[in-house]
Amino acid sequence: MAEKKKEVWSESRVELFRELGCGEQGLTDGEAAQRLSRFGPNELSGEKKKAPLRIFLEQFADFLVILLIGAAAVSIALGDAESAAVILAVITMNAVLGTVQTVKAAASLESLKRMSAPTAKVVRDGAVREIPGREVTVGDVVVLDAGDAVCADGRLLECAALKADESALTGESLPVEKTTGEVPADAPLGDRRNMVYSGSFITYGRGRFLVTGVGMDTEMGRIAALLKAAGDKKTPLQESLDQFGKKLSVGILILCALIFAVSVLVRGESVMSAFLFAVALAVAAIPEALSSIVTIVLSFGTRKMAKEHAVIRRLQAVEGLGSVSVICSDKTGTLTQNKMTVQQLYAAGRIIPVEQADFADPLQEPLLRAALLCSDATVNENGEVGDPTETALVRLGERFGFDEEEIRSRWPRLTEIPFDSDRKLMSTVHQLSGGLMMLTKGAVDVLLDRTMLTEQERREIESVNEEFSRQGLRVLAFACREVDSPAVNLCDESAMDFLGLIAMMDPPREESAPAVAQCIAAGIRPVMITGDHRVTAAAIARKIGILTEGTEAVEGAVIDSMSDEELKEFVPKVSVYARVSPEHKIRIVRAWQERGNLVAMTGDGVNDAPALKQADIGVAMGVTGTEVAKDAAGMVLTDDNFATIVRAVENGRGVYANIKRAIQFLLSGNFAAILTVLYASLAGLPVPFAAVHLLFINLLTDSLPAIALGLEPQDGELMRQKPRPRNEGILTREFLINVGIEGLVIALATSAAFHLGLRAGGAPMGSTMAFSTLCLSRLFHGFSCKSARPVLFQKRFFNNPYLLGAFAAGAALLAAVLLIPALEPLFSAAALPAADLGAVAGLAFGSMAVIQALKALRRK
Ligand code: ATP
Repeated sequence: MAEKKKEVWSESRVELFRELGCGEQGLTDGEAAQRLSRFGPNELSGEKKKAPLRIFLEQFADFLVILLIGAAAVSIALGDAESAAVILAVITMNAVLGTVQTVKAAASLESLKRMSAPTAKVVRDGAVREIPGREVTVGDVVVLDAGDAVCADGRLLECAALKADESALTGESLPVEKTTGEVPADAPLGDRRNMVYSGSFITYGRGRFLVTGVGMDTEMGRIAALLKAAGDKKTPLQESLDQFGKKLSVGILILCALIFAVSVLVRGESVMSAFLFAVALAVAAIPEALSSIVTIVLSFGTRKMAKEHAVIRRLQAVEGLGSVSVICSDKTGTLTQNKMTVQQLYAAGRIIPVEQADFADPLQEPLLRAALLCSDATVNENGEVGDPTETALVRLGERFGFDEEEIRSRWPRLTEIPFDSDRKLMSTVHQLSGGLMMLTKGAVDVLLDRTMLTEQERREIESVNEEFSRQGLRVLAFACREVDSPAVNLCDESAMDFLGLIAMMDPPREESAPAVAQCIAAGIRPVMITGDHRVTAAAIARKIGILTEGTEAVEGAVIDSMSDEELKEFVPKVSVYARVSPEHKIRIVRAWQERGNLVAMTGDGVNDAPALKQADIGVAMGVTGTEVAKDAAGMVLTDDNFATIVRAVENGRGVYANIKRAIQFLLSGNFAAILTVLYASLAGLPVPFAAVHLLFINLLTDSLPAIALGLEPQDGELMRQKPRPRNEGILTREFLINVGIEGLVIALATSAAFHLGLRAGGAPMGSTMAFSTLCLSRLFHGFSCKSARPVLFQKRFFNNPYLLGAFAAGAALLAAVLLIPALEPLFSAAALPAADLGAVAGLAFGSMAVIQALKALRRK
């Protein structure tokens, strides 16, 4: 097959069908299934999924873990097999936890990637069907429209003005014009114009191709390294935490080395036990889990967002969502339902309500027929296929008992100039009884310039258009002209005869007005940017609350004459931009960004891609959007709904807050451990913890509350706050001060317990009490990290079942160590009488109560 494929671009169509054993009708389901098993799924297997065993083993590749294993080995050599067994058991359990978290995070990222994977329209059993791109197989006939991603290599069977962006393959940034003609067999890749290639995008026109290669057997397969995996790169937050973690680690390692030296040289402890303790302290104090906690919380957050119809393609987008301060949204389908129904017509100088339209009326008939012929949509028993503007036209025909198939076969379409939202027009050429006729439909203001009308007629049409638009209706104009040959081009769209107007209603989505209100309350400015008419857009924007007192609706052209500086001053005054071009979108986004805003921007068309890339968060439409737009976006909406963006912002803020909670929990707890050890050293007391204590806390009882905090339910406050400033990191001064204070309180409780134990039963008892208090205080501290407000004795205290579970699991592990006599020696724990157990519980709970009281004080 691979041999054959190399020659494919020069073979004739008939030979090709014969070679691939299929026909114009495409494959049957059975044939497709057979071929799929023979050629394999159509995907690049460049990135291999890691086996869980490998992930498990990777957990041991950490510098600190290796040190611990070394320490365990030395223990065995010195005959202390018990300590070694406990250390190894704790490390292994930690590795199991780490593996489970990593596998889960990878699985949810994988399912996200699947969700945003491209689909393809194939001809199966003679009908066009949309299927996941990975199910396309050799011999399939694939239908291409502008904006589609080409998902396999293949030979073109048909093309109408087809252009493809093959930059990913050839580096050529200009789209390549395609043909169905023969091409010499030795042509270089970029010149094989009768072929399309996986990894490229259709930027213009329409076509069909026969799949000749899939998966790794494509040109793209050969450059598989080009495939960028969503989520591979670290997010800015992860990077800044990594850097912070590295600096902190260096400081802690120096501190641990000092403590090691003092223990051996000053206190005369054995090298082995001092080494073990220094390593354990390093493990306990170094926040090695920071970056992985971020990944885990982000992946939980993205899974929740995906369930709520926002699929995240780049993890960075989740962080950014929390800071979004401007949302630029298009109108059709995002703020409105994209369910068009024709309401009024204007033909032969008369406004006609749709109920009174009449195909039999010779004055209306040309307009109604043009509406059916100059449209690509189909409506049949399987539903509607195509642009809703066009399905509304086909439904209009249906109203009068017309079968679109019959009309279209009676006056067949010979050629076309496809719709393009820049040109805002579409033309088709048909064989009518009198000769060749070109039919054009499109935006009224654009098409009127290309028709032959008197001043008076034009004024009247414009005033009807204005009246329709004020009612929020979308208006299309229709015109026709005779042509000599079907080979028409853009110049032929001139000197046309005006046929009439058709106005349709696209009601706002029910959720739009509440979502806009929520946005405004959350300090986010909603802006409508649409290709539609200014008056129509303003009517809808006013209805849903975007266009408010003091702001205006303008046409995109208004900003053409403005400098970037002027535009920067202008944007806050405008809530609606109509008739915008893709360049306008980029300039508007940039102007808002220059004012210090983080901008989310929606888009669906091929031309929207640059603006989606320019925006901080590009949001593509999953249903109506092109693959080009999805590829450029950081987030894809699977329901094309504005309200989903607002919910995603809320989730983004929630995820960020949860990451902050988890980090606060880890850092303050680690700080408490260091403070206690430092205090004991400076006060000339014995070492407060055995190495195994620190390992137990850090590797076992600490991870669960940190993850549980990452799943903290959102509070209603989130969307009443202003957006987080775009450059504000997590580790602000205030955050670090809080970490310091909370760590100090826990260290005080731990040191108090240490003293109580020392007095009652010497070093073993002191160390057991210090360990138990630190462990339990940190478990309680999870509840303090829930909110900046006090939560003790409130419903909120109990609203995170994961945190309650993590607390219960941690407390049960601690109880096992303290209460099961067989475990006591393993964990260097002395038996604690009931009164001391009570003291531990009281001090741990007390540390939380003090932290809560401090929160209350600070709020006052
Ligand atoms: P938005 O940018 O909010 O999605 P939109 O759908 O109105 O708005 P475009 O699709 O760019 O934006 O359409 C711009 C204009 O082109 C419309 O106002 C309409 O007049 C015209 N138009 C839309 N669809 C078609 C079509 N299928 N054929 C011809 N003209 C069309």
